[in-house]
Amino acid sequence: MPSRVAVISDVHGNWHALQSVLAAIEAEQPDELWCLGDLVGYGPRPNPCCVAVRERAALCLAGNHDLGVLGQLDLEEFAPDAIASAVWTRGVISDEARSFLESLSPTARRDRVQLFHASPRDPVWDYVLSAEAAEAAFELTEDPLVLVGHSHVPLALAEENGTLAGGLAPEGTEAELGAGPRLLLNPGSVGQPRDGDPRAAWLLLDFGSWRASFRRVAYPVERTQEEIRERGLPDALAERLGRGV
Ligand code: ZN
Repeated sequence: MPSRVAVISDVHGNWHALQSVLAAIEAEQPDELWCLGDLVGYGPRPNPCCVAVRERAALCLAGNHDLGVLGQLDLEEFAPDAIASAVWTRGVISDEARSFLESLSPTARRDRVQLFHASPRDPVWDYVLSAEAAEAAFELTEDPLVLVGHSHVPLALAEENGTLAGGLAPEGTEAELGAGPRLLLNPGSVGQPRDGDPRAAWLLLDFGSWRASFRRVAYPVERTQEEIRERGLPDALAERLGRGV
């Protein structure tokens, strides 16, 4: 088991956000980087994001947007802005990025950690944003730590003897790993945060001190917004980055 692991999710082709997060991660010198999926979709720079994560990540999942761009999910299931960006991404995705995405799966298991892009119930589409979904996620898993992405909302939930505790995990939230309650953590999103904080989100797991720590890093949002507009992607995708919604 690596001692310290940085976890990222939902990069969504936001290269400036990813660069800022990777710099913050590098400063912490973790043993490994794990990514919970959705490297592409919504954002204007899918290719460098795929290449950078492929080079650095010891583990990477496929997300619904990755599968949509690959044609492995029907785009009719997506919202209109997501369809527009998936169609655009299909036209610009490099062979290198595509073959990396094709190698990924939406679930993984590593030592005593279970990882899902969305949830254990449905690793591609289900959002863990309600008590009911969280209970199902704990019921369907057995490891002490469960990691999910997909909702773009950082979460730290604990379960012990059927009782849930925790909730939103803003910057500075710390959770205790190891003995005691089982944990379900969502690092939040690098490239399109939706918790009202526009800064890019990531999570540091320390299996030595048994702490999980939720981090945020500012990045030049306006540069990604400009790139979205230059490429003719839906303006709402640029606008929401400024508000973190
Ligand atoms: Zn996503």
